Amino acid sequence: MTSSCESREPVAGSGAPRCPRSGTKGPAVELLTVKALLGALALRSVRQGLYRFCADPTCAVVYFDEAGQVFETADLRVPVWQKEAPGARMMCYCFGENEAAMAREVAETGRCDAALRVRADIAAGRCACQVRNPRGTCCLGDVVRAAAHIEAQAGAVRQADCG
Ligand SMILES: [Zn+2]
Repeated sequence: MTSSCESREPVAGSGAPRCPRSGTKGPAVELLTVKALLGALALRSVRQGLYRFCADPTCAVVYFDEAGQVFETADLRVPVWQKEAPGARMMCYCFGENEAAMAREVAETGRCDAALRVRADIAAGRCACQVRNPRGTCCLGDVVRAAAHIEAQAGAVRQADCG
């Protein structure tokens, strides 16, 4: 099972504990992130330990720990985009960039500058992904991918209209 490629994977790769429900490998999340994103009731059962994030879109578990404790989407204060249907998901929790607004921008201007805006706000030291994004990490890569996907879809539609 081991190869030279696998040994170069990041911490979140091979060997990372798996979600007890879906078996998905989960990258570690800072405890502050878990505490910031859980609703009051769920927060009361948080333990001092290592929680991990399940990104599987078909699994309701968001955070799990090594003892098998889980917190589900309903336990969080915000929708988790990885668990939502594509179309109107919040891609940047700090600055409110969501797919619906990005698609509108592409329809109106032919392009989406969401990643440029987010990058500028990050450069200005305004982001707070650790306490706003359920994943606890920077969303810029997600925004870039979402914008590219929406632009490509719009381009395909335009080409179909012309052709
Ligand atoms: Zn899961």
